[in-house]
Amino acid sequence: MNAALRNHPGPIPATVTVPLWIHVLTDGVTGAPDAAVREQVTVLNQAYAGRYGGVDTGVRFELRGITRTDNKDWFRNPLGLEDPMKSRLRKGGSETLNLYVSQLGELVLGYATYPNWYTGNPRHDGVVIDWRTLPGGALRNFNFGFTGVHEIGHWLGLVHTFENGCSEPGDSVDDTPFQATPTEGCPETRNSCTAPGDDPIHNFMDYAHDRCMNQFTAGQGLRMRQAWVTYRGGVTAGLTRSSGMTGLLGTQSGQVPIAPPRPLTGLADSLFLPRGRG
Ligand SMILES: [Zn+2]
Repeated sequence: MNAALRNHPGPIPATVTVPLWIHVLTDGVTGAPDAAVREQVTVLNQAYAGRYGGVDTGVRFELRGITRTDNKDWFRNPLGLEDPMKSRLRKGGSETLNLYVSQLGELVLGYATYPNWYTGNPRHDGVVIDWRTLPGGALRNFNFGFTGVHEIGHWLGLVHTFENGCSEPGDSVDDTPFQATPTEGCPETRNSCTAPGDDPIHNFMDYAHDRCMNQFTAGQGLRMRQAWVTYRGGVTAGLTRSSGMTGLLGTQSGQVPIAPPRPLTGLADSLFLPRGRG
């Protein structure tokens, strides 16, 4: 992907608006409530706008619709049954984010495809997240909705901040310092490589607990918008540019503190997971 991004066609847009379809899988009454799904969309737009910290990436999400499908097999095994589930539910082209909300295993909270996979496998393009990671969900330490923020970062072309450890090219983003391994929990500070800079433990593309995460960097915002014109938005201009969007890189105002999510009724008891996102 790096070479393709270096040779991207044309100018990089300052803003990108991603059409979003959310597909909620359920097993009877078990599954994500609509209120949590809508709260997830709000969290996505606030995170990518830099409202919790970091920069405004210029990326926004526009909800086109929510589908609900009662299918206990797709709900319980969305990766094993990825092909029939996505073949049936997926909407739009390379520019449309299809977010599937179902139940994953104990070690993986989410799974995303990369933009450069689209051409080879358009049908499987999209992001799957565990319903208990939505804001107010049952997964303690991972229920602010930031698993969705993280996985969609992959869908937009970002890799983990610890990619390649302390070695070049790291995550191929200039303003995220090298990081030897994933961050666990929520440490005060961490410096795992001799290269300059502390580990980016508050970055959405690390593995820290949700309360520890709050930011993307300007370099990550640029890479996502480069990937957008290279792989996703270029073929369907008109869907891709937002008009009237303000507040570009470095001009954020009025950051909002990350508040503990409001508990939602109808969710299972809290579970504890040591870590793990796709
Ligand atoms: Zn990941």
